[in-house]
Amino acid sequence: MRYLPVFLDLQSGLVALVGTGELARAKLRVLVAAGARIRWYATEGAHDVHGLEPAQLARIDFAKSDPLNDDLTGVVAIFCAGAGDVGVAMSARAKSVGLPVNVMDDLAHSTFIFPAIVDRGDVVVAIGTGGTSPVVARRVREKIEAVLPARIGDLAKFIGRFRKSIHARMPEQSLRRRFWERVIDGPIGALVLSGHKDDAEAALNAIVDPSAFAGAETSGKAKGHVTLVGAGPGDPDLLTIKALRTLQDADVVFHDELVSSEILDRIRRDASRIPVGRRVGKPGIGQEAINQLMIAAAKSGQRVVRLKGGDAFVFGRGGEEIDALRKAGISCSVVPGITAALGAAAQFEVPLTLRRKALRITFLTAHKTDDADLVDWSTLTDTQMTVVVYMGMSAAPAVRDGLLAAGRSAETPVGVFARVTRSDAKAAVGTLEQLPDLVAQVGGGPAILIIGDVVAHSAPWRRQNLNQIISDLLESTP
Ligand code: SAH
Repeated sequence: MRYLPVFLDLQSGLVALVGTGELARAKLRVLVAAGARIRWYATEGAHDVHGLEPAQLARIDFAKSDPLNDDLTGVVAIFCAGAGDVGVAMSARAKSVGLPVNVMDDLAHSTFIFPAIVDRGDVVVAIGTGGTSPVVARRVREKIEAVLPARIGDLAKFIGRFRKSIHARMPEQSLRRRFWERVIDGPIGALVLSGHKDDAEAALNAIVDPSAFAGAETSGKAKGHVTLVGAGPGDPDLLTIKALRTLQDADVVFHDELVSSEILDRIRRDASRIPVGRRVGKPGIGQEAINQLMIAAAKSGQRVVRLKGGDAFVFGRGGEEIDALRKAGISCSVVPGITAALGAAAQFEVPLTLRRKALRITFLTAHKTDDADLVDWSTLTDTQMTVVVYMGMSAAPAVRDGLLAAGRSAETPVGVFARVTRSDAKAAVGTLEQLPDLVAQVGGGPAILIIGDVVAHSAPWRRQNLNQIISDLLESTP
């Protein structure tokens, strides 16, 4: 690290801006928005205020003098933007009097660089790349913007207002830290972040004994919580922002085997990770044991995450887990995930519905041939219905036979979509008649089957058709 990020108090003095044109005006807008008072030296001709608002102009002192000779008393930093050679000379002057100076796009003449900024009021994040790549800095900023709650600045301000009084009531620093951690992580923090400041204030004022409140965690009285989180089909970028936040807050994560390692990498480093799911062919520890583990962890005051492939409520047994948690008196919530069908649809461009053509979607499971025997296939013959089968690889022959016997056409387009959204995703498309052969082509699961005319609109179908046309053409050429 060559550049140390520090935060400049814009109320402590003037910021000098040297330069003209759109570059100078752009810098002005940023500085005014940040609350700076600015002395602007236009290096060529008059100050061009084109596009600046009256409120912005009110914060500007239009200097007529030469910045290279003017008195700089009260100036805390100097920016040069669109200043040409004057910027270089100004840099030398600033250095000689010990003022920090930034010359836009000129690292050699700058003593500080302007970071990319995430601005949430009192919470400000500055991102620097040592001047090497503003584009990388902007990308990092986008990522941080996405994970920071919108009202995090309000939370900081809220705590700031109570700091002194709590300090007076709790002189011991480590206890005080635990107190604030519990406030931030608990219902009071959640109230502020959801915009209910008055309720948060009432709850904070209602704490009669802050030391007991802070110590509650260690004395085992803290209330745990379980969040069922849908991890999506594999690509970690398909986690929702809320899922990511929950993973970053967790003390312990019980996860399915299906959840990819890239997603597990997004869990808070210090959290324990416990695999509990079953895999095809290998039994897991059983649903009852999973429930008991979650209940015990929550009762000990931990923030528990139950992380599942896709969405917890789509063939994910989320309903049973919620029931068990409620019965045990554990508070719980659910964060949705992208289910495998939607992952496959997006990746392979299968429109699950089509105006006037595909009006209904059925998600069903056919885990084993026995399950498939339970399905009433006669309800699935409607040609305007897209049928998506989860866990249907080994039951594929039974699925095909059931649908054919019920009267769905053997020519119905179908697709088998394996390991969707992962790097080794694969699709095989054909007709209902060929369904078991298509399953054999994808080289292992997990895979879902999509049955219906919509598959003829998918990317692999179009590609296959094109290949067919080319090979027909080649064959017909003498
Ligand atoms: N809750 C999950 C489904 C769990 S059942 C969800 O919403 O997606 C397990 C079945 O989901 C697998 O047998 C397979 O049919 C499907 N599945 C899960 N992940 C998949 C993936 N990445 N690609 C294709 N199918 C997947």
